[in-house]
Amino acid sequence: MSRFNEEVIREINSRLELADIVAETVQLTRKGNRYWGLCPFHQEKTSSFSVTPDRNMFYCFGCHAGGDMITYIMKRDNMDFREAVEYLANRAGVTVQKESPAARRKQERARGVVAANLAAAQLYREILLSAKGKKGLEYLQERRLSPEIVEKFGLGFAPDNWNTIEDYLFKKAFSQEQVKSTGLIKRSDQQNRYYDLFRNRVIFPIHDQRGEVIGFGGRVLDGSLPKYLNTPETELFSKRKNLYGLYQARQAMRNLNQALVVEGYMDCLKMHQAGIENTVATLGTAMTQEQARLLRRFVEEVVLLFDGDDAGQREALRAVEVLRAEGLKVWVVSLPGGKDPDDYLDLYGKEEFLQYIQNSKVDHIEFKLNRYIETETELNLDTRIRIIKAVQKDIASLESELEKDYYVRLLSRRLQVQENLIRRELNKGSSGRSSELNKSGILRDNTRYGKSSLEERLLVSMLKNTVIFEQVQETVGLNIFRNTQYRQMIHSYADLLPINDHSWDDLGNIARLEGFASAYARVSFLMEEEPGLKPVEVQGIIRRIQMRRRELRWQKLQERLNQISEDADFDQLLRFILDLDTFINPTHKGVTT
Ligand SMILES: [Zn+2]
Repeated sequence: MSRFNEEVIREINSRLELADIVAETVQLTRKGNRYWGLCPFHQEKTSSFSVTPDRNMFYCFGCHAGGDMITYIMKRDNMDFREAVEYLANRAGVTVQKESPAARRKQERARGVVAANLAAAQLYREILLSAKGKKGLEYLQERRLSPEIVEKFGLGFAPDNWNTIEDYLFKKAFSQEQVKSTGLIKRSDQQNRYYDLFRNRVIFPIHDQRGEVIGFGGRVLDGSLPKYLNTPETELFSKRKNLYGLYQARQAMRNLNQALVVEGYMDCLKMHQAGIENTVATLGTAMTQEQARLLRRFVEEVVLLFDGDDAGQREALRAVEVLRAEGLKVWVVSLPGGKDPDDYLDLYGKEEFLQYIQNSKVDHIEFKLNRYIETETELNLDTRIRIIKAVQKDIASLESELEKDYYVRLLSRRLQVQENLIRRELNKGSSGRSSELNKSGILRDNTRYGKSSLEERLLVSMLKNTVIFEQVQETVGLNIFRNTQYRQMIHSYADLLPINDHSWDDLGNIARLEGFASAYARVSFLMEEEPGLKPVEVQGIIRRIQMRRRELRWQKLQERLNQISEDADFDQLLRFILDLDTFINPTHKGVTT
C-alpha cells in the first residue's frame, strides 16, 4: 500500500464513524462501550454483530466477519479495496490522488463499451419478443424456461442476418472503435468488411458483479457447431475472471454462505427458476483462481454439480484443487448417466433435487479418493500408497481428530488396508510444529463458539505483555499457534515490534492486506475483554509444549532403534548413539535427527 493511501485511510477514519455507516442498514443498540446488532453478513435472530466505535472496527461472533471500515464497505457493497477507499473518501470529503490520464482514458473506453453492450442486449431482447425472434422464443419454451427467468437474465435472440448489430449500434451513434471493442462483430477474411458474431442464436448476456453487461454467450437452436459461442476476450470481458449468473446469485449466495457451481448456462437458469438462486456457472473454462477468489468474496462453501462422465469428473477434480487453494470448503455432487441439473429439475422438482444434492454430496477428500480409485486400473501396493499420499495433506490439515479418524477408516475400507498401517503411512509425511500441537491437544480451537480459547488467551497475553511475548518466542517459538491467521498475525507483529511502539495499531493495515482482518478484529475485541494469562499459566503451557516435543523426538528415536537391525553397520549405530546423547543432554552437540 502506498504512503498516500495510508494517509487517505487515516483521514477517512478520523472523519467518519463506522457505527454511523453500519446504522444505515443495521439497527444498533449500545451496550457499554460497544454497539450490537443483527449481523448483515449472515442470517441470525440474536445480535452477535459488534461495532467498537473508538477503534472503528466490527466483528461478528456468529460468522467471524470482521475488520475495519474499508473491509466493512468491501463486504457490504461488494467493492474491491480501491472502490471502497474511493467511496469512503468521497463521503468523508477527502481527495484521493487523481488517476493517470492513461487510466482515465481506459476507463472512458470501458464505459463506452459497456454502453454499447447494454444497447446490444436491449436489441437482442426486443428481437426475441418480436416476430423475428419467434424461433428463439420457441426454443426457450421447449426448454421450459419461464418468461420471468428470461426477463431476469435478459435473454435475447440474434437473427440470421449478417449486419444487425453493426447497423443498429452505428445508428445509435457508437463509434466503429467502440463497436469493434464489444467483440460482437468480426472482420471477414476476404473482404474488408465486418459481420455479426452471433447469428441465429439465443443470446445470454453476461453481467459482472455490479450488473454491467460485459459480454455475451450464444447458443444454436439446432445441432450445428459450435453449440455455444462467447464474445472473444476483450479489455472488458474475460471468461477466466467472471462467472455466469453471479450478479443474479450474489444475494442468495451471501445469505446461505454457499454457492452451487454448474457447468452450463441452461443449468444455471433452471436452478434459478426452481428457486435455487445461489447458483452460478463457469463460462466454458476450467475453474480458475480468479473465479475461486470471486466466489470467496461471497461464500465460504462451494458445491460443484458436475457431470459424472470422465470429462466432468476431471474438471471437478481440477476445480476442487483450485477452490481448496483459496481456502474454500468444497463439496462435489457427481450427476450420473450424462444427466445435467436441468434434467433432474424437470423430473423431480426443487425439493427432491435439493434432497438429492444433500444425500449424494461428498467432501473434497472423499471425492479425490473415489476419483483416484476409479482411475487406477489395479489396486496393488504401489497404487495404494500413491492414493494415500495423494490425500495425506488434506487429511493432515483437518482440524478435528474425529474427522481424521473417519478418513482413516474410509481409506482402510476402500483400499483394504489395515487402519494402523494407514495411520502410520499418514504420520510419515506429517511434520511441522502445527501438527505436534494438534496431537498434544493443548491448544484446542473453539473460536466458533464465541468463547476465547486457550490459544487466544495466550495470544492476547503475548500482545499485551512484551515479557511474555519474548518468553514464548525464546522457548517454543512463534509457530505454536494452530490457527493460521493467528500464526500470521504473531509473526507480522514480531516484525513490527522492534521498530515502533504502535505495533498493534499498525498491524491493522497489514491484516487487511494479508487477509487476516477478521482475526485481527476478533483479537482487538479480546484484548479489551480478556484479562490474559497469569505468568504461571504461561509457564505451564510452555512446559507442556516442550514435553510434548520431547515425547515426539523420543518416539522417533525409538522407531529408529527398532529399525536398526542386528547387522547394522558401525556408522549407523554411531549416528544413533550420538543423537541419543544429544537428546539426553541437550547441551552436547551432535548430529540432529
Ligand atoms: Zn455474522
